[in-house]
Amino acid sequence: MNGTDMLTIGAFARACRLSPKALRLYDELELLRPARVDPDTGYRYYAVAQLERARLVAWLRRLGMPLARIREVCALEPAGAAREISAYWAEAEAQTAVRRDLAAFLVHHLSEQSAKDVTMKDTTMLELRYSAHSDRGLVRPSNQDTAYAGTRLLAVADGFGPAGAPASGAAVEALRFLDTEEVPAGNVLNLLEEAVRGATEAVRDVADPDENGTTLTALLWTGSKLALVHIGDSRAYLLRDGGLFRITHDHSVVQSLIDEGRLTPEEAGAHPQRSLLLKALTTAAPDLKLHDAHRGDRYLLCSDGLTAVVPEHRIRELLTARPDPEEAVRALVDAANEAGGPDNVSCVVADVV
Ligand code: MG
Repeated sequence: MNGTDMLTIGAFARACRLSPKALRLYDELELLRPARVDPDTGYRYYAVAQLERARLVAWLRRLGMPLARIREVCALEPAGAAREISAYWAEAEAQTAVRRDLAAFLVHHLSEQSAKDVTMKDTTMLELRYSAHSDRGLVRPSNQDTAYAGTRLLAVADGFGPAGAPASGAAVEALRFLDTEEVPAGNVLNLLEEAVRGATEAVRDVADPDENGTTLTALLWTGSKLALVHIGDSRAYLLRDGGLFRITHDHSVVQSLIDEGRLTPEEAGAHPQRSLLLKALTTAAPDLKLHDAHRGDRYLLCSDGLTAVVPEHRIRELLTARPDPEEAVRALVDAANEAGGPDNVSCVVADVV
C-alpha cells in the first residue's frame, strides 16, 4: 500500500461522516482498526479501502443498532449481513409494537379518567355470555392447563414443568378476585398490575420458578372494554363481522424466528422447538392491551393445545357455526382431540351481548 492510499483520522472521518472520537472508540472496540498507527506519534491512519466498512458502521449506528451487533454484521459477507440487518429490524418493529400497545393503553386509561364524570354510555349495557373448558387431551398423562370464565374475568393458563398444573392453577386463582370486584374503567391499569404481581407471586409460591412456569392470557371486562393481559404462547382471538383476528403475539422462540423472517408460518408447525417459550409469567412483564367491545363480538382464549393442531380457518368455521358459547367450546376441544389431542387443550369463548 503506498502513501497516497492512506488518510489521516481527520480526513477519514470527514469522508465517512463519523467523528474522530467515534473512530477512536471503534478502534478500541475492534470494530474498525486503523490500517496503520505511527509508532512514534500514535497517530492513526486509515486506508481508502476501509471507507466502505466505515460508512456501513455509520449507517448501522444511524439505524440504532448496538455496537456489539454491528461487529457481527461487519464480519459477514454481504448476503449474510443483509439477512442480519433485516432480522435486527424485525425485532425492533416487534418491540415497537408492544410499546405502541402500551402507549394506546395509557391514552385510553387517562382519557377515561378525565371523562369520569360524563354520564354512562349505552355500551355499559353490554355484558358477557361465556363458557370455559379444559381437557387433558389424548396423550399427556395429566392436565396442566387451567381455564376460567366468569362475569368479568376470562383466563387461560398453560403450566409447564413438574409442577405445571399447580402453577397454572395458582395464576388463575390469584386473578379471580377481579371477577367479583367492581372494575371502574379508569382504574383498570393499576388493578391489572396489582393482579399480575399477585399471580406471579402465587406461581412462585407453589412451583420452583427454575423448573416450572405458566403462560397467562386473560381478559378483564370493565363494562365497556376488555383489558387483555398476555404472556407466553396461549392466544386470544376476536371474531368480529365474520373475520377471525389474533389479538395476542406468541412469546415463543418459533414466533421470533417467523418475525425475523428466518422461518415461514408453515415451517413453524413442524419445528422441533415450537413449544419453547421466550417469556412466561415469572420471567417477564406481560403485554397489556385495551379493546373496545362491540355488541356481537366473540372472544376466544385458548392454549396451544388447540392452535398447534387446528388451523385458524377451521377455528373460525367452528366459532361461526356454534352460536352458543358452551357448544362452541366443546366443538373446539373435540376438534383438537380428533386431530390426535397431543397436548392439553383449553378454550374460553365469550360473547358480548
Ligand atoms: Mg400446551
